[in-house]
Amino acid sequence: MQPNETTTSASGRKPDHAHEEALAELRSHGGEQREETLLPRVISIANQKGGVGKTTTAVNLGASLAESGYSVLVIDLDPQGNATTGMGINHRNVAGSVYDVIMNDAAIEDCVEPTSVRNLFVVPATIDLAGAEIELVPAFSRELKLRRALANVKDDYDFTLVDCPPSLGLLTVNGLAASDDVIVPIQCEYYALEGLGQLLRNVALVKSNLNPTLEVRGIVLTMYDARTKLAEQVEREVRDHFGAKVYRTVVPRTVRISEAPSFGQPITVFDSSSRGALAYRELAKEVSRGATRRAG
Ligand code: ADP
Ligand code: MG
Repeated sequence: MQPNETTTSASGRKPDHAHEEALAELRSHGGEQREETLLPRVISIANQKGGVGKTTTAVNLGASLAESGYSVLVIDLDPQGNATTGMGINHRNVAGSVYDVIMNDAAIEDCVEPTSVRNLFVVPATIDLAGAEIELVPAFSRELKLRRALANVKDDYDFTLVDCPPSLGLLTVNGLAASDDVIVPIQCEYYALEGLGQLLRNVALVKSNLNPTLEVRGIVLTMYDARTKLAEQVEREVRDHFGAKVYRTVVPRTVRISEAPSFGQPITVFDSSSRGALAYRELAKEVSRGATRRAG
């Protein structure tokens, strides 16, 4: 069956009420992009699907914001540690990791590593973080570990970006509970919207139980391949449904973006004038639009 036959939309969802449900969830978060960005800001990059561009967005949006003069902390909340290595940090050489912060009450400032990009810092992840998902279960106020740890340092950075793992487990809940906003990357592929309703419901749950000011800040379309009709269809569908929540910037699928992590560099350093670098700089402009420091 062809992806775009009448029984299925370009995103791979049956045209049932699931879209409407997701849309209603999103409306409950406010349908517009905000014109003002109060700093400091903690933003989770979340989508329980793997391989949609969360880590790539955390690293490259972070690097682009840092390049424009903002101080940026990326928190690697994925046991795979791809943001850590993608920013050139060897997890074997780190003083402490996000695991120590979450499980051993280590001070976050003792785990912050500088990167080769000025103003860009990372709290690395090591493989022990894989155990945290289980070890957290009996822990006291297990959902708020990261939030409490961040309280001491969030004023030191303009943007803190939390690279969430590909699940809706306790690590992602910690990320969401610690954040002002969520940015959801969506891959311009078949089944793009699958699971989005579930993600938005989880955001709503965290909002109502743990973090009343949490908002979905925006949706970013990633890995856009202009040669395919499908990418175009997915973009149209996502924009039709989510309107102004979708960033104007679309991140293209490029080989250079996928090569950069193995050199431990953001695309803005690896190939500064590439299409991918330009896209992430444009996204950074949208994300930081109207940025002002909170008074006091
Ligand atoms: P996630 O963190 O959601 O699992 P990643 O950011 O790790 O997703 O991306 C998955 C894979 O796709 C990685 O190998 C990454 O290098 C590659 N990738 C991500 N964005 C792009 C892009 N715009 N163009 C080409 N490859 C990309
Ligand atoms: Mg990732």
